[in-house]
Amino acid sequence: MTGQSATAPRLTPGVVTGENYRALVAACKAGGYALPAVNVTGTNTVNAVLEAAAEARSDVIIQLSNGGARFFAGEGLPDAALAKVLGAVSAARHVHLLAQHYGVCVVMHTDHANKPLIPWVEGLIAHSEAEFQRVGRPLFSSHMLDLSADPIDFNLGECARILPRLAAMGMSLEIELGVTGGEEDGVGSDIDDVDDSRLYTQPDDVAQAYRTLSPLGDFSVAASFGNVHGVYAPGNVKLRPEILEASQSLVQKQFDTGPNPLNLVFHGGSGSEKSKITRAIGYGVFKMNIDTDTQFAFASAVGEFVMANTLAFQHQIDPQTKAPYKKLYDPRKWLRLGERNVVERVKQAFTDLGSTGKTVATA
Ligand SMILES: [Zn+2]
Repeated sequence: MTGQSATAPRLTPGVVTGENYRALVAACKAGGYALPAVNVTGTNTVNAVLEAAAEARSDVIIQLSNGGARFFAGEGLPDAALAKVLGAVSAARHVHLLAQHYGVCVVMHTDHANKPLIPWVEGLIAHSEAEFQRVGRPLFSSHMLDLSADPIDFNLGECARILPRLAAMGMSLEIELGVTGGEEDGVGSDIDDVDDSRLYTQPDDVAQAYRTLSPLGDFSVAASFGNVHGVYAPGNVKLRPEILEASQSLVQKQFDTGPNPLNLVFHGGSGSEKSKITRAIGYGVFKMNIDTDTQFAFASAVGEFVMANTLAFQHQIDPQTKAPYKKLYDPRKWLRLGERNVVERVKQAFTDLGSTGKTVATA
């Protein structure tokens, strides 16, 4: 099934913020689909995600981890903290310039920021504030603060401190309650070291977050329901999407809202069963992160090419035939193969999440 419903908003293609961001999220929830949030590390991966979105006629979320942002700025830049800010800003400017030409709507986001990375997010907010002053819109649609390793009062206190600065520019905040198992870019914890109950978000914590944050601005919740970063042997942790349902019903009851009042985010979705993904979307998940699988897609395509053409990666000219290998070792040749395999994997994610053909962008 493709094509948006008649009631869906029609938005100008490009990066969405403010009410356009909220309209896009509402369209996902009303339409029963979610968007993949793909981690990017450079223009190769950004362009592949945009290409996939254009081909699938789906909107998409592009995000950078702190390590991805650092890589985007260049590993050689000596000041790592500065590089993490400038790399994410550079990526956002690249997406703002190009996304509209791919004809889809794009959410520009940053991934996990734990306590030591709060200054990273504040640095990015300062850049958005300067941009907002200049052109009336921020650089990002949303940021994530992941203080789930800290006590909930500290977690929500910091979110409440920062959310008003975001809301003033129409930006949203993603928070985390409960622990996503596994580790991503140095943030997170080994699943074997975490108490099992912490791998499942407590609905009371979600209600406390709703009470604290909903008067301050727009926010979404990365809830833990047994999800784990990375791909592990099956059977380690059990996915329990009914935890999401319990959180939604508790908030609906306590605060007298409509159904599925929370905007939920699914981390660690790589390798999840399709039926569990579908159930999670039914409980208000609008965003599912994907990183591990697109990393492997890029690497496996490049690896296959290198193994099939080993001489071209060792000699500029064939030692026997003297034929030049320039057309094979030119980085555009094999980077493009990596990009195309990422395109195919992201298109599969659109299919899995039901977003193919559902872009809210005007043609
Ligand atoms: Zn995550």
